[in-house]
Amino acid sequence: MKIYNTLSKQKEEFVPLEEGKVKMYVCGPTVYNLIHIGNARPMIVFDTVRRYMEYKGLEVNYVSNFTDVDDKIIKKAQEEGVESEVISERYIAECKKDMEGLNVRPATTHPKATREIDGMLDMISDLIDKGHAYGAADGTVYFRTRSFRGYGKLSHKNLDDLRGGNRSLLVSGEDQKEDPLDFVLWKPRKAGEPAWHSPWCDGRPGWHIECSVMSKRYLGDEIDIHAGGEDLVFPHHENEIAQSEAANGKPFARYWMHNAFLNIDNKKMSKSAGNFFTVRDISEKYDLQVLRFFMLSAHYRSPLNFSAELMEAASNGLERILTAAEKLRELQEKAKADDLTQQERHQLQEAATYMKKYEAAMEDDFNTADAIAAMFEFVKFTNIHANESSSHEYLTALRKQLQTMADICGLILEKKEELLDARIEQLIAERQAARKEKNFARADEIRNELLSQGILLEDTREGVKWKRA
Ligand code: AMP
Ligand code: ZN
Repeated sequence: MKIYNTLSKQKEEFVPLEEGKVKMYVCGPTVYNLIHIGNARPMIVFDTVRRYMEYKGLEVNYVSNFTDVDDKIIKKAQEEGVESEVISERYIAECKKDMEGLNVRPATTHPKATREIDGMLDMISDLIDKGHAYGAADGTVYFRTRSFRGYGKLSHKNLDDLRGGNRSLLVSGEDQKEDPLDFVLWKPRKAGEPAWHSPWCDGRPGWHIECSVMSKRYLGDEIDIHAGGEDLVFPHHENEIAQSEAANGKPFARYWMHNAFLNIDNKKMSKSAGNFFTVRDISEKYDLQVLRFFMLSAHYRSPLNFSAELMEAASNGLERILTAAEKLRELQEKAKADDLTQQERHQLQEAATYMKKYEAAMEDDFNTADAIAAMFEFVKFTNIHANESSSHEYLTALRKQLQTMADICGLILEKKEELLDARIEQLIAERQAARKEKNFARADEIRNELLSQGILLEDTREGVKWKRA
């Protein structure tokens, strides 16, 4: 399995620290609003990385945080006249709903920054003791960038240029820094802001220290993969490396993965630019599976432009896959022959080549675009080579392969309506059982419940039939 590592700017063979296990940290969203579909890109792509690794038999410890203390959260709380926590908890719950719709599995752990303050105080004290951080007169604590030799290794930036450029960015109060590249580990409280006690002042942590500490707490000093959107390379991830390596004296993450932006009119989608759609907006028009499929139809390191036409194309593409899955299911249910014929045996060998292609694409830095292309080739194959005379065993094998391909991408093969159908059948069976037991009250209750959802039942000699009103 090859992963493009931002640190080396190369694809490298993935070798986990501990055989068979993967420690992975993905920077999560700042929760002050509904997430937009740009935020959904890292969620979807790294969930797919996790799924593929699990398919390969690796055990993945997947940690993704919620940044629940931040200027934007505080501002929103002040606007609404509530505590910051009301805002962050509200949008964590909303984010989890969106993740569920996108079939993004919950992380092994979803730490929240505000619950990890003790760890942050420990790491900051440690950095001060080791000469990597210093406190200013007003109680702010800064990381001493010059003290960390590897600073700049992830973003491959020329630090002198950065220093020159940053000088113009200095705002009042920042002149207490020793170096323009020094960054905040702890900052004093302002009126009305959430704050915690510390040896330096009552205040709150800087953003970067949060991730260093949560990664250490849940995964240890050294981890396999650290991931996020490419805007996080500098300064966020560069600063995380400086903090973690200076404090722990060990290499922090071995592989750094970054997804490219989701753009709109070739500009990064972002809240501040106002050119965004929330996941919730999209869910009003499409099943969120379509959004997931759209995201995976491009390689994660390629910029992806969002448009109505491309979403329509994704919707049609996904429909082709779902229709093929449905056809296979129907054929399998009706199959007359049980066992494989000689010819089917050969055809299954051909079918396996599409799975190999799919895997080869995923092995090559998770190229989901090519993996999906292999999935389409396989769908075409099943459309040609599966029919009424196919055996049960053959159809079972084809269904299983399509299911595996879909599972790795986190796509659900059942059409929404079918799920509903299954529920109706279940209620009808329950009603029949109630009638058998002469529990007519329950039977009527079920009939009325179905009626309220527009489902009409008809008792016929062949059994119960139903239709939508
Ligand atoms: P934020 O809430 O801004 O910290 O972002 C959460 C995650 O979404 C980070 O990994 C960002 O890099 C990522 N992200 C934000 N905007 C986009 C975008 N337009 N395209 C892709 N990823 C994004
Ligand atoms: Zn982070």
